[in-house]
Amino acid sequence: MAKLLRINLSALSAATEDVPEAYRKFGGRGLTACILDREVPPTCDPLGAENKLIWAPGLMGGTTAPCSGRLSVGAKSPMTKGVKESNTGGAMGQKLARLGFKAVIFEGKAKEPTTVKIDKTGVSFCSAAPLAGLGCYEIIEKLRSEYGENACFGCIGPAGDMGLTAASIMFTTPDFHIRVAARGGLGAVMGSKNMKSVVVDDAGSNLLEIKDQKKLKENVSAMTKGVLGTHFLEGLRHLGTPQIVMITQTAGALPTKNFTMGQFDKAESLSGEYMEELLKKRANAETVHACMKGCIISCSNIYTDADGKFITASIEYETIALVGSNCLIGDLDMVARINRACNDAGVDTMDVGSALAVAMEGGLLPWGDAEGALKLVQEINVGTENGRMIGSGAKVTGEKLGVKRIPHVKGQALSAYDPRILKGTGVTFATSPQGADHTAGIVLPGPHHPQYSPVEPTGQAPESRFMQQWMAAVDTLGYCMMIGMTFMEEKAEKHLDLNMIGGLSAVTGETYPETYVTDLGAAVLEIERRFNKAAGLTEKDDRLPKFFTEEKFGPGQFVFDVSAEEIDSVHKQ
Ligand code: SF4
Repeated sequence: MAKLLRINLSALSAATEDVPEAYRKFGGRGLTACILDREVPPTCDPLGAENKLIWAPGLMGGTTAPCSGRLSVGAKSPMTKGVKESNTGGAMGQKLARLGFKAVIFEGKAKEPTTVKIDKTGVSFCSAAPLAGLGCYEIIEKLRSEYGENACFGCIGPAGDMGLTAASIMFTTPDFHIRVAARGGLGAVMGSKNMKSVVVDDAGSNLLEIKDQKKLKENVSAMTKGVLGTHFLEGLRHLGTPQIVMITQTAGALPTKNFTMGQFDKAESLSGEYMEELLKKRANAETVHACMKGCIISCSNIYTDADGKFITASIEYETIALVGSNCLIGDLDMVARINRACNDAGVDTMDVGSALAVAMEGGLLPWGDAEGALKLVQEINVGTENGRMIGSGAKVTGEKLGVKRIPHVKGQALSAYDPRILKGTGVTFATSPQGADHTAGIVLPGPHHPQYSPVEPTGQAPESRFMQQWMAAVDTLGYCMMIGMTFMEEKAEKHLDLNMIGGLSAVTGETYPETYVTDLGAAVLEIERRFNKAAGLTEKDDRLPKFFTEEKFGPGQFVFDVSAEEIDSVHKQ
């Protein structure tokens, strides 16, 4: 049976333990929330020794279910001051699951920067002094040459060392590209523990228990067939998430000039269609790429320059919109370079992209100054005052520069969807226990609710509630959100949720009710809300910045006008 692995960095010791009953029904996001709720004082200093950093594969982690190898990284967030789960692809989730771990809990604080190594023989510790001062690309290369091709890594860059609130944790894919547990400053939590990197090698180990292999195979096959037939995945499998650029541009919801406009005159030069054509002509580039084994979608890419030299992998919609259109930067190569600089410093491209736009509004840089933006991000690595400010995200940057319009909720920058056009998504941004985030449950029009209007001020709460529950369950099961989003076409006809339930049942040997998926999501949200309440967050924190409710937007002159009563009803049922 899978175990918990508890690593004490103060004592440089580790122990495995049986999974307590209260933790058993959860994996991934739900498990990180449950451990946080039971083991971490909600009012503790997020960067103090009482906070814990938790890495948990989902309930389906390590199995053959499509796109089920995600890793949830959890802790009390230094950015939102509440619960945080940051979700990533890469190899870590699957390797931890195969080593027989339901979660790894990092506690305490090492005396000096430390690398932790986990393999089938146990846990060992060594000095991370050789990695001091390096950017994440160099750190990963050094770890790879030392620990070999079967290992995977999680590490922090200079931003995590400095405890900046937009610091992320970088993880490696099977081919050693970077995937990021980006949001909420969890890289700063890892840095506060003096844990510089973690090496995991699952060679010679497969402790996964599957009760009914035949049943799992049948469910995997049915789910794969169902989701691959959807239009949603069809576009994603060619253009990746950058396909969303022209969708939000057409809808007038593409963040432009710090959320003052919803359309960008250079959107086409940032689009997935443009990127596909560009990368097809470039050496060493890939328009489709899988960030983990068992991915059937391959929505990632490998971006190279005109000479075929690697820049970054992967460039995603959220980065393109928040670093690109929202800063009036229409040059995709420059967006890719800024993305790389963020990865190297170890920061969230979304919060830092949003901070760049806020800095432009505050007069620190001219609008559209791509070279200036790149230099500013590169300053994070050397810890200049402005570098530290940008690396702390949009809220800190806006407050420091006296900017009034800061697009954040609970201290975390909004993802790249204007909430005046997509009001259900705005309700999710406002009320998610995680702060504003697209992975918490964006609400989009689609065949699953043909009567739904995203710009209406009423009827948004039930849509947001359903999506938040659904995505919380998807993250707890360990599936990629891209699979989760296919329910818009899948749900009515082919029952994606029933295949999810059948797959889990094959793994555990237990049976679950038809409402299992949304019940699971509701239970996770309840735990997360409980932690936030105890940490001091209230309904007043469940609000969008005022400018979204006051500034008329786009040809329709929309404002975000969902009532406080409706917003507060999201978590009351
Ligand atoms: S669909 Fe995209 S994000 Fe999800 S696992 Fe595959 S490559 Fe990674």
